[in-house]
Amino acid sequence: MASMMQPQIILLKEGTDTSQGKAQLVSNINACTAVGDVVRTTLGPRGMDKLIHDDKGSVTISNDGATIMKLLDIVHPAAKILVDIAKSQDSEVGDGTTTVVLLAAEFLKEAKPFIEDGVHAQNLIRSYRTASTLAIAKVKELAVSIEGKSVEEKKGLLAKCAATTLSSKLIGGEKEFFATMVVDAVMAIGNDDRLNLIGIKKVPGGNMRDSFLVDGVAFKKTFSYAGFEQQPKKFLNPKILLLNIELELKSEKENAEIRLSDPSQYQSIVDAEWNIIYDKLDKCVESGAKVVLSRLAIGDLATQYFADRDIFCAGRVAEEDLNRVAAAAGGTVQTSVNNIIDEVLGTCEIFEEKQVGGERFNIFSGCPSGRTATIVLRGGADQFIEEAERSLHDAIMIVRRAVKNSTVVPGGGAIDISKYLRQHSRTIAGKSQLFINSYAKALEVIPRQLCDNAGFDATDVLNKLRQKHAMQSGEGASYGVDINTGGIADSFANFVWEPAVVKINAINAATEAACLILSVDETVKNPKSESAQGDAAGAMGRGRGGGRGRGMRRR
Ligand code: ADP
Ligand code: MG
Repeated sequence: MASMMQPQIILLKEGTDTSQGKAQLVSNINACTAVGDVVRTTLGPRGMDKLIHDDKGSVTISNDGATIMKLLDIVHPAAKILVDIAKSQDSEVGDGTTTVVLLAAEFLKEAKPFIEDGVHAQNLIRSYRTASTLAIAKVKELAVSIEGKSVEEKKGLLAKCAATTLSSKLIGGEKEFFATMVVDAVMAIGNDDRLNLIGIKKVPGGNMRDSFLVDGVAFKKTFSYAGFEQQPKKFLNPKILLLNIELELKSEKENAEIRLSDPSQYQSIVDAEWNIIYDKLDKCVESGAKVVLSRLAIGDLATQYFADRDIFCAGRVAEEDLNRVAAAAGGTVQTSVNNIIDEVLGTCEIFEEKQVGGERFNIFSGCPSGRTATIVLRGGADQFIEEAERSLHDAIMIVRRAVKNSTVVPGGGAIDISKYLRQHSRTIAGKSQLFINSYAKALEVIPRQLCDNAGFDATDVLNKLRQKHAMQSGEGASYGVDINTGGIADSFANFVWEPAVVKINAINAATEAACLILSVDETVKNPKSESAQGDAAGAMGRGRGGGRGRGMRRR
């Protein structure tokens, strides 16, 4: 009663919507669980794909957690954090994007009953952080180094990692074929950090087995003018000239205004234009180059001129392709044709224009620096090739990570960490014991989901796994779900390998996200930003039980 007599305290602008307290926390957890449920079924080799289409009519079929999360266009403020960790996992390690979302959602799900029972979120957060540190230490302990192996052996091991990544994708049926290709590509670029040195070109049509690797650069034939067909299409050890200038007649008259008093002078102007372009062309020819590439247009005059002198040319080459040729062939892109010295010309063993399916490709192979590789992907539908490209990207990242960190861990949801945490929790007195136990249980979501997605009895398989891991000798540590038989198997022996950094990063990011969401107990929505965000956001927030109006309303 007394409180009603007190004057009202106006803290926030009129119309500001806040929700706070336990209800807010629970509603955030619910939203994140809902997101987890969306990607849940895509995990693992038997995971399903998602078909996402937007209002513009573009259709994407994907199994990649990060891609799905991006396309879902989530508006719930707390659930957005899960999108962010999926993205960061994608850019940091490239794979394990579904895993990270699933783990975070599961950590939160396990936390929910505690929150509802009135446990303070900070207690949970502290225990979760401890648990994650312990889990990561355990992963590091379980990791096996591939350092000190011969190149051939290493390649084989890396191919195993790539195959594990690819096994959950649309192209999983051909995982060995693509895994070898990816490893060769990564080996080709060596220690260079620029990922764009590996090009992936998509050519619709054909069979995915028709895909091939070029130890150099390949790009689609550019637009060409008459005379092009008379140019030679194959060279051995040609010199390659890379340009960033236009070799076209019209280009010279663009920025000039000339006033003539006598019509006879006109011819001299026209002649001057021709002289300029011929001068440029002559200089290109004199350089000794047999292949001329330019980022800008090479017109019909130049095309014919080069054709008459047995030189191949291509204009309007995409910048990234030109840069890759420069990196591979060892040339430098020129902005002027004056003074072309031998040093700026690149070379390669074989240059060739080749028919690939319905497209023609310019292929530079056997490049001296050898620091590029191009994968030419074939396949039926566009969506298929797009997804294949994303899958290869994952595999490429994984192999690069494995090369850099050179430690691998068994995949297939080997949950030895979970056992370890459970054992550890028993040594702790107090509530923390329960929390760490829940964390350990949450980690089991990976094998459980792998089973569910494959149609196995998850409880049965998990019990077998727990029993195996509990063996005193410790030799059961690398057992995981056997996706082929529905039982359990030694993931190490079956070569279901993943770079340790995938696991470490996933555990780290998922724990951080879960703790972040647990530490939020109030959402404030200010009226101005709300109107700016539009109706969609508002509708979504309500639809997902997004916390608005559920907690206490402050006046
Ligand atoms: P993410 O986006 O997280 O990489 P994936 O759909 O690629 O999700 O699934 C990865 C999970 O599948 C990993 O936990 C990995 O250990 C497991 N996995 C991959 N291949 C196999 C296999 N042959 N047998 C059992 N588990 C596998
Ligand atoms: Mg994967």
